[in-house]
Amino acid sequence: MSHSSHSYDAVIVGSGPNGLAAAIRLALEGLSVKVFEASDTIGGGMRTKELMRPGYFHDVCSAIHPMAASSPFMKQLPLDQYGLKWIKPGYCAAHPLDDEPAVVLSNDLYDTAFRLGKDEKRYKSIVSPLVENWDSLTKDFLGPLRFPRRPLQLAAFGLKGLQPAQLFQTRFKTERAKALFAGLAAHSILPLSSPATAAIGLVFFGAAHTGGWPLPEGGSQSIAQSMADYLKSLGGEIETGFKVSSLKQLPDSKAVLFDLTPRQLAEIAGDKLPDSYRKKLQKFRYGSGVFKIDYILSEPVPWKDPECLKAGTVHLGGTFKEIARSEKEMDSGGHPEDPFVLVAQQSLFDQKRTPDQKHTLWAYCHVPSGSTVDMTRQIENQIERYAPGFRDVIEQKVTMNTDDFHEYNANYIGGDINGGRQDIFQLFSRPVSIYQPYATPAKGIYLCSSSTPPGGGVHGMCGYHAATLALKKEFGMSKSDMKFTL
Ligand SMILES: Cc1cc2nc3c(=O)[nH]c(=O)nc-3n(C[C@H](O)[C@H](O)[C@H](O)COP(=O)(O)OP(=O)(O)OC[C@H]3O[C@@H](n4cnc5c(N)ncnc54)[C@H](O)[C@@H]3O)c2cc1C
Repeated sequence: MSHSSHSYDAVIVGSGPNGLAAAIRLALEGLSVKVFEASDTIGGGMRTKELMRPGYFHDVCSAIHPMAASSPFMKQLPLDQYGLKWIKPGYCAAHPLDDEPAVVLSNDLYDTAFRLGKDEKRYKSIVSPLVENWDSLTKDFLGPLRFPRRPLQLAAFGLKGLQPAQLFQTRFKTERAKALFAGLAAHSILPLSSPATAAIGLVFFGAAHTGGWPLPEGGSQSIAQSMADYLKSLGGEIETGFKVSSLKQLPDSKAVLFDLTPRQLAEIAGDKLPDSYRKKLQKFRYGSGVFKIDYILSEPVPWKDPECLKAGTVHLGGTFKEIARSEKEMDSGGHPEDPFVLVAQQSLFDQKRTPDQKHTLWAYCHVPSGSTVDMTRQIENQIERYAPGFRDVIEQKVTMNTDDFHEYNANYIGGDINGGRQDIFQLFSRPVSIYQPYATPAKGIYLCSSSTPPGGGVHGMCGYHAATLALKKEFGMSKSDMKFTL
């Protein structure tokens, strides 16, 4: 199929959060844009589906959105006028432990600190500076590496954040604070001994006490839908069910922005890219994968500590040591018996997820890239550990392994949900270079996906930065020409 009859200022391939953000950014400057999406529905990692029964809505990928709530770009978009409604659960996260109350990350910094007992002061001294400087910090760390707006604050954050979580946790005295921190840092999908894993934990602490960890009413699809509707209001177009496999299929444009990963870009752009750059793209390293289970439950999870019912997210895996050990085993190619499990319980806070009093549950663990091992038993054992009787409330479930994820979204190579391993070597230099990560050597061809800084998560900042660069390089716009700035 070819669309050569019509031309646009810019074309975007892929309608994930970054593809839609890039399209909106360009349309805000009055450019004509068109998005091509392979799937029949828009949204990439932000889709909600009736996976098992009509009326029961499950977030296939993203569920909880601290990064969207903190995103300097998304925060400025009038998405509420296009149907997006954020719901903030009572607690951001709960971290149950054996035979003692769960540790709680609440929306309030002082409340969270108070509950940490002997670590109260320490928590405040670590997290308060982040919260106080959150707006400027997010502009710096949710972007490419460049001269920071607040160098001192960023340097202070950088000095702490570049540490491995394993080292950083020694600042806390109690096992409870260490465990909570492990659950946050483990979102990196890296061993907790890796440099910069502390930064991931710190970012999630900061997000908790600023924008919170909200979930969108109706499911993450409503983020995609509101972005798409806003884009259309700006004159943008979207075509679904159109898998791009060659540049020849695309209409004429001055710029093409790919919301895809390096391997797909190399295949599609082919000879347009110099050999040397293609070779670098081929060296890009993908990360570990995920194994996920979606459930329909007859009633909420019977947590031993009912405080867990107030949290949107529940982290399972026990102490810092246990989580560090199981994540390390996974990163070395193993399938731990006691994996770190991320659970989201959206239906407790959003009545639009089920047609009755029953509940949905979303749970996944990390697995080696390309793994097809069924982790159902291990995930359910971890839930049972903190919620005896859980298996009795399961009515129906569906699982997805790394092959299923890759088939579902071509960006999830080997089941990697972050568009590439996010270790220190690839955090800012995604996909190949620390300088201009979004532009390729081929004129008019850009990468705007989570394979560019700042990486995975629903925040749209990769798309925003790629589009801003294209505005300068392809459309000759200087900052003072632009109607929209951050
Ligand atoms: C199980 C799971 C849980 C997650 N949980 C969270 C969470 O709670 N919070 C959070 O913030 N993030 C979460 N994420 C991560 C988040 O979904 C991703 O980081 C984010 O969606 C990446 O955005 P993107 O725009 O770069 O790419 P994607 O969202 O992957 O979008 C890429 C789009 O390109 C399309 N495409 C691919 N190839 C082609 C082609 N050849 N032609 C046309 N279109 C193409 C795809 O169909 C897709 O729609 C989760 C992901 C998964 C899988």
